[in-house]
Amino acid sequence: MRVLHVCSELYPILKTGGLADVAGALPPALSELGVDSRILVPGFPAFMAAIPEKSLVASLPAIFGADSITIYASKLPDTEITIYIIDAPGLYDRPGNPYSDENNQAYQDNYRRFALLGWVAARFAEGIDSKWTPEVIHGHDWHAGLTPAYLKASELATGRKLAGSVFTVHNLAYQGVFPSQIFSELDLPNSFFSIYGLEFYGQVSFLKAGLYFADKITTVSPSYAKEIQTLDQGCGLDGLLSHRKNDLHGILNGVDQAIWNPSVDPIIEAKYSAKSVAGKLKCKTALQEMMGLTVQNDTPLFGVVSRLTEQKGLNLVLAGLNEILKRGGQIVILGSGDKSMEEAFKSAEAMHPGSIAVKIGYDEELAHRIVAGSDVILVPSRFEPCGLTQLYGLNYGTLPLVREVGGLADTVIDSSLENLADSVATGFVFNDFTASDYLRALRRAFALFQRKTDWKKVQKCAMQQQFGWDSSASKYQELYQEVAVN
Ligand code: ADP
Repeated sequence: MRVLHVCSELYPILKTGGLADVAGALPPALSELGVDSRILVPGFPAFMAAIPEKSLVASLPAIFGADSITIYASKLPDTEITIYIIDAPGLYDRPGNPYSDENNQAYQDNYRRFALLGWVAARFAEGIDSKWTPEVIHGHDWHAGLTPAYLKASELATGRKLAGSVFTVHNLAYQGVFPSQIFSELDLPNSFFSIYGLEFYGQVSFLKAGLYFADKITTVSPSYAKEIQTLDQGCGLDGLLSHRKNDLHGILNGVDQAIWNPSVDPIIEAKYSAKSVAGKLKCKTALQEMMGLTVQNDTPLFGVVSRLTEQKGLNLVLAGLNEILKRGGQIVILGSGDKSMEEAFKSAEAMHPGSIAVKIGYDEELAHRIVAGSDVILVPSRFEPCGLTQLYGLNYGTLPLVREVGGLADTVIDSSLENLADSVATGFVFNDFTASDYLRALRRAFALFQRKTDWKKVQKCAMQQQFGWDSSASKYQELYQEVAVN
């Protein structure tokens, strides 16, 4: 089975969020099952630099304002996975974030930049790599949303279906919506600009294109697959999604056990495992020292590693700081995003040094240290398609405190009395997106922390959870089998 993944981020080369982790982990997991998975990415500087040795696959005619378009292939460093890179310097050779300029403004020509990604993917189905043609093309998020549309256009033009298509929504809130005027530049049949196509309230939606034209749709947890069919969480696409519910599958993300695993993690202070958890205390002490927190073990240390956005519920974390301080706890926060939240956390740190530590920015190594050194990892999201941070917390015996929504609801079990009695608890779960519900969960965490034996039991149960990629990769493989064109 030959599958081409189409995406804009890929760990460890270029990452702004969980999409990169998935794109980096799923293809190798599929390869283990015998699926020949390859990856197509835009030629952002990070990709061009990380992969210096490339072989020429094809030169393509100018389109979407790119002067030259060259497709290269190579192996991803230290793997057998083939990566194809679209070298189109006029569109992609820009420093920094893949989507926005240094002022965090989305690039005006993003529709061209990501139209090219989907358009090139469809050319693969037509055979631009004479040695390898995909049977399935799997697009990820709105950046790859036009892929199924270009495949459909190609099918209409040739009268032949060239490849099956799967489209995965990693976050429905990011949709790639552009004014209708850009449609004429997309090189798609006029009929596609319709409610039965990529038109979305008079505009062009790349995400809707993916959802409408793909043979199968997936999203990253079973709960989120249901939630996005509702008015509340459908972001205007609930009608289409419930119409397509038989083609919509929720497949939980996994954890890359080679990277987020305390028994092999080279970044953290001391390695540890469910069998021997002693090293975790060393990680806590090292984190406290490094972040300027008072070094003490008899109080819980809460950790946050997150984009600072409305989605992630950081306003609840802000609202709960006093509760943590009042009970003698500590909190360490790593994140960047919303400027007013960054400032609010920084000023809280200034008022309570020793108890609150804040690092604004993106720091992969510190993320590992926080996940290993904290006692509780906070993920109180308003909505959460899957969430990886709570899965990393489980792996590291850092009990997740989460809201009961999306993938968080599917992966964490509350330390209620009955769940403790049944030895199934793995963290703390609250229901309503309100400060009072969140505070109650914080109090449960403090209460359990005092009961060392119970805490250790929950920690062990958390670390024994199996959120690897094997079973999820098999589910993707089954879907590929249903849609493959060979
Ligand atoms: P999302 O993709 O919505 O941001 P996920 O939980 O799916 O949320 O994935 C977030 C990923 O990004 C995790 O790997 C997390 O460790 C990482 N991450 C988020 N913020 C930061 C940061 N400031 N520094 C380092 N890693 C971060």
